[in-house]
Amino acid sequence: MVRRDKMAPVLTALHFLTHVGQSWIVANLGPGSAKDRWLVVLAGVLLDLDGVGILWSQSAYAAMHLAAGHSLLFGLVLVAAAVLWADARWVTGARAALSFLLHLGRDVVCTGGLPIRYLWPITDRSWSYEGHWVLASWPNAAVMAGTLLGVVAVAAARTRRTPR
Ligand SMILES: [Zn+2]
Repeated sequence: MVRRDKMAPVLTALHFLTHVGQSWIVANLGPGSAKDRWLVVLAGVLLDLDGVGILWSQSAYAAMHLAAGHSLLFGLVLVAAAVLWADARWVTGARAALSFLLHLGRDVVCTGGLPIRYLWPITDRSWSYEGHWVLASWPNAAVMAGTLLGVVAVAAARTRRTPR
């Protein structure tokens, strides 16, 4: 038990890095400017800003986490921002949407079943998946390892494409 408690911050950090890695892979699904890739990565990680309430209090955290940032509303804001600011507007908007949805999927399936309030602030109704995994599980480790391999493969492909 003690060991699991000590591992919790490490697993949470790895979980977040997996979000970053998956978003970066989506950002590199095809050609695009550095700015467009940033927009796609941000669309896959900014969701977790709704957890900053933990810096104030447990109740502030509980009120906003997996609601404000993980809502359809915030997803639309992120995609709209990508479409507005990107060099390749629609491709980047589509990649930003995919990046956002991948984050939600990973949170619902991989992180212990915490419910997501997808329609916040219209309703506090929440969704979770009964067959979810926990962070400390082999399927989750497999997803993390697969993401790492994907990141390495994308980096290698980018290095090959970059003229010397
Ligand atoms: Zn999240």
